[in-house]
Amino acid sequence: MKKEKSEFTAALLGNPNSGKTTLFNSLTGATAYVGNWPGVTVEKRSGEFRFKKGGSAEIVDLPGIYSLSPYSPEEEIARSYIIDSRPDVVIDVVDCTNLERNLYLTTQVLETDVPVVIALNMTDALKKEGKAIDASRLSKVLGARVVAISALKGEGLDELMAAAKEAAKEKRKGSSVLPSSDELKEALSIYSSDESEVSSPLFHSIKALERDELEKKANPHLCEKVEKLVEGSGIDYETWIADERYKFIERECSPCLEGKRESEREKLSFSDKVDRVLTNRWAGIPIFVAILFIVFHIVFSEDFLYLSYTGAIQGTFAEGTMWEGLFYADGAIMSPGVIMANFVNCLTGGLTEVVGNWISDPSLVPLRGFICDGILGGLFAVIGFLPQILFLFFFFSILEDSGYMARVAFIFDRIFRRFGLSGRSLLPMIMGFGCSVPAIMNTRTLNGDKERIKTIRVIPFFSCMAKAPILSAVAGTLSADFGWAASDLVALSVYLLGILVAIISVVLMHLTTQREAVPPFVMELPSYHLPQPRALAIHIYDKAKHFFKKAFTIIFLTTIAIWVLSHFSWDYTYLENNQINVSILSDIGRLIQPLFTPLGFGSQLGTAWGWAFAVTAITGLIAKENVIMTMAYLGAAILQIEEFGGSDAEAVGAVVEAITLSGGVVSSGALFAFIMFNVLTVPCFAAVATARSELPSGKIGPTLLFWLLVSYLGGTAFYLMIDWPWTIAIVVALLAAAFAGAFFYDRRKSASEKERA
Ligand code: GDP
Ligand code: MG
Repeated sequence: MKKEKSEFTAALLGNPNSGKTTLFNSLTGATAYVGNWPGVTVEKRSGEFRFKKGGSAEIVDLPGIYSLSPYSPEEEIARSYIIDSRPDVVIDVVDCTNLERNLYLTTQVLETDVPVVIALNMTDALKKEGKAIDASRLSKVLGARVVAISALKGEGLDELMAAAKEAAKEKRKGSSVLPSSDELKEALSIYSSDESEVSSPLFHSIKALERDELEKKANPHLCEKVEKLVEGSGIDYETWIADERYKFIERECSPCLEGKRESEREKLSFSDKVDRVLTNRWAGIPIFVAILFIVFHIVFSEDFLYLSYTGAIQGTFAEGTMWEGLFYADGAIMSPGVIMANFVNCLTGGLTEVVGNWISDPSLVPLRGFICDGILGGLFAVIGFLPQILFLFFFFSILEDSGYMARVAFIFDRIFRRFGLSGRSLLPMIMGFGCSVPAIMNTRTLNGDKERIKTIRVIPFFSCMAKAPILSAVAGTLSADFGWAASDLVALSVYLLGILVAIISVVLMHLTTQREAVPPFVMELPSYHLPQPRALAIHIYDKAKHFFKKAFTIIFLTTIAIWVLSHFSWDYTYLENNQINVSILSDIGRLIQPLFTPLGFGSQLGTAWGWAFAVTAITGLIAKENVIMTMAYLGAAILQIEEFGGSDAEAVGAVVEAITLSGGVVSSGALFAFIMFNVLTVPCFAAVATARSELPSGKIGPTLLFWLLVSYLGGTAFYLMIDWPWTIAIVVALLAAAFAGAFFYDRRKSASEKERA
């Protein structure tokens, strides 16, 4: 719908990764997601551009397409918007560092009757290659307005919009770059006849010659006539048309590029050299793991410079100063991520204390507990992780925007391709490291239903940012109280194990319930570039906004619910912190606790606090932040700290200690199983709702079951393997049996399918 005040609607159309969303953001001041890989935008989205002299235009950002003959649902969105909704003008965004390929789409857009303005984007990058493009010559060749811009630097945008305004006023008739032929003329006359009433007849008649599927659906009768023509001619029009488009581009358009040819070769070879290492068959994955490790070390390590290992500097740090615990502790300097978190915890701890002192009247104890422990304690436990979450996300954004993540997808493509997933499905998975919700939506770029099902199901295994606090806190306990490796290493291994479980699940699904041949997919690697501060800022701002929104809605409500449940008994008497063990919450916990016995963290039946882990895992089904919120909250109650002072890792430690003191056991295997269960299980409400709407109908039930099953079995397996290493043999044997079974099932199925055919 057009807003009343905007004078016209301009749609941004172009190849994936040509800079449409960047242009959209620059024009409208919006903060839509920009990523340096093809296929980030999967829905159209609109915003407003204001002319300096007054008036405005509506700008619509569309998913990227290579051609107006679409292959996937999100490409159809772009085509039907241009052809059926008919914006007043199309701004065709062309990446001029890839001129020839981008103009292929342009030649098709020009065949419609919609006014077109061509935006030659990335002129800044072209300049760096030592090249230039003659816009006015290209304009003459194509018969449309051409404006050179840089969406990133904001250059040429006013000229572009002025041209769009002019063009929108005009009536235009489609024009084609194809050489004339009898069939072309006749097809056009079929489509232009009065009774056919087709708009953009030239476009549609050419699509009919190409035997385009959508065209067949839209105008079956006309298509039939054109089909007869094609049969009569004996020419393969689909190939002929594509050839002629490229011939035209090469003959007429390529000469518009001026500049050094050899610099291109040099640049290519540089990028190639880098890629030869980064995407190397053998080195690629180790390099990826190493990069992840560095990132985790900067964000999570409590011993940033490995000082406490060597013990070299022990004693050099002043003990008992206010800086201890903030910057350093136990003879080690903390990593930047931990230091940032310490600062935030210091602030929130102080704030809680102030509020606590303020309501110090003895008669107000329940109120004070409600505000300090319930509301502030819960919220701050989550907010305390914000610095690390954003910091981690910052690094992921850099990896993504520089173009490296697309290489990672390429590396894993070689593995995944064998298991029924095309390279495309890896990008949504990697987006899952940020948040499952947009990642699941992004699976629209996939072709087959089965490929989408497989991908959506494993996206949560790519541990999202909301799960990072669980890793960080529990890993902290593992390393502090159980002598495990440094917490950054534990966190890293959780990420890698998540990927491993994803691979295993995909293989098994591919061989059994989701069998499907994979369409060939050639992955296109975007060019490397320096991460753009603006794009990074947008990513991080988005993340923080999302986080606060969640903290003050869903997490806030859960906090209150948990407080009420844990401070009242079934007969509604108010309970002190040290009485939580007879609360409603504890009874609910005891009820579900046995479910987790096989995973190790439900095995403390009868002990005072054994139910704590079960309860926290359940609150995580609402939002993953709740896990650590609840844990911190129970830990604080155990420590009898009314105000939050201890870190969340200490809270986990306190829960473990309380269970131990009351005669229970929480082993390191159980703690690790607890992490893995939370990573692998049913994701948060929002992700489930998204999966429900994105999956084919009837598939959400089996998918939920799948998540429960994988997390339950996975958790059990990790618990067993860590506490009783000899069980590794059993787990491996069972996995091998599952693979073998699935393999033979697949073979039998294929054989019987062949027979039938
Ligand atoms: P879309 O897929 O067409 O929406 O493309 P995006 O807007 O997501 O941009 C793809 C990549 O190209 C991002 O990494 C952008 O930072 C980069 N990019 C976009 N416009 C320009 C530009 O004018 N110059 C340069 N050098 N890079 C750009
Ligand atoms: Mg986009």
